[in-house]
Amino acid sequence: MMSLSKGSSQEGHAKSRKRAHVLVIEDSRTFSSLLCHRFEKENGLLTTHCASTRDFHAAAKTAEGEFDVAIVDLNLPDSPDGQILDEVVAMGIPAVVFTADFNRHMRERLVERGVADYVIKNNERAVDMVVSAVERILSNRHVRVLVVDDVASARKMLTDMLAVQQFQVFEATTGTEALGMLANHPGIDLVITDYNMPDMDGYQLTRRIRREHGSDRLRIIGISSSSDRLLSASFLKAGANDFVYRPFVVEELQCRIGHNVETLSQMRQLRLAASSDFLTGLHNRRYFFDEGPARVASCLERGESCSMAMLDIDHFKRLNDTYGHEIGDRVLKAVATCLSRLVKDSDYLLARLGGEEFGMLLTGMDGEEASRFCETVRTCVAGLRVAVDESDIAVTASIGVAEVAGQENFSNYLNAADQFLYLAKRYGRNRVYSDNALLNMAAGSL
Ligand code: GH3
Ligand code: MG
Ligand code: MG
Repeated sequence: MMSLSKGSSQEGHAKSRKRAHVLVIEDSRTFSSLLCHRFEKENGLLTTHCASTRDFHAAAKTAEGEFDVAIVDLNLPDSPDGQILDEVVAMGIPAVVFTADFNRHMRERLVERGVADYVIKNNERAVDMVVSAVERILSNRHVRVLVVDDVASARKMLTDMLAVQQFQVFEATTGTEALGMLANHPGIDLVITDYNMPDMDGYQLTRRIRREHGSDRLRIIGISSSSDRLLSASFLKAGANDFVYRPFVVEELQCRIGHNVETLSQMRQLRLAASSDFLTGLHNRRYFFDEGPARVASCLERGESCSMAMLDIDHFKRLNDTYGHEIGDRVLKAVATCLSRLVKDSDYLLARLGGEEFGMLLTGMDGEEASRFCETVRTCVAGLRVAVDESDIAVTASIGVAEVAGQENFSNYLNAADQFLYLAKRYGRNRVYSDNALLNMAAGSL
């Protein structure tokens, strides 16, 4: 069992960087080649194929501890009763059983033996189902589930099942403890809570959680052995996403958990798509306007300076007209990469505002510091070379900088930067303009 420490999450990330390795134990040539092809070409996974128990023993010896998941055909020539499954499970490899024979008795045995999933070879979607099961098991390693139950045995039943599914599992024995964990350790994706608990029941816990955490970021499943049929309705009305009565059917609970985790991941993808710029991968205008005001407010609260900068590529229309839109896009990407490198280790907010315009909210910088920083940005852009056929093309950009003077509408800060950008364009382009620059110029002309 993991503790909620920083170490465990770093461990998770270290594991995710490595290419996952799938072991395919299958004597049918058709199925094994189909599976290996899909895993390698579509999922980018490493695969090892074994057609017999003998092959498996040899592979296990050379690649000990290497396999992240195994597909196990129960009917091999030298393991007709699926003895190989016990060996795979004993090695701690999550197993997806792929079998042609299936009945209730066999299902009981598979669940008892702790398989991660099983797929029956009785339809044309069987291979797709195995591939999805593997994807799910591998992605579960990044999903954090908190089990809340005061009874140790009930908790264990759930945590064992979740561990087989490769989830990162955390435990709390009371509602209060669960709330504390959620407050101190953001990153928990799913809470599975019992109803009957001494300090606060699961229904109350659900209501308390929902005050702080929305359903788009944290899922809740209620669970209870109560015979009160209305309990599920209470939980769902309080904000739980699902409810299951004990004793539960393992596969049913697994599917319900899987659907919730999938919904969460789809919402995450939607959020990402809605806040990022498709061409450059930078944040987009919507994100800039969503995030910006709070960043300015916290700067002002702390009594720190803050500046807004707006960058616009010079003569970009001409560049498009001369070299074509595709080259124009490459230039936009190159400029975006240059900007993101320069803000990489900071809290500055960077976005593509539209077309060839970029916004930078430079928190902690007064106008003078921001102008100096933007001078570096300008030099970086001017130094870019984008290869076109045999030659390299260069671009320049103009930047307007305005220091945030007080609490105002967020778009006003951008308008102020835009005014200076206009001057930068007007007075020759490839330059940074701010009120400091104007003051210095005025002083120089006296
Ligand atoms: P200035 O120096 O005054 O900024 O002149 P400019 O030509 O850069 O400015 P203008 O606003 O006239 O032209 C911007 C051009 O940017 C026009 C538009 O076709 C082009 N553009 C906008 N979005 C994209 C894009 O996503 N890709 C490409 N390739 N071009 C784009
Ligand atoms: Mg331009
Ligand atoms: Mg423009």
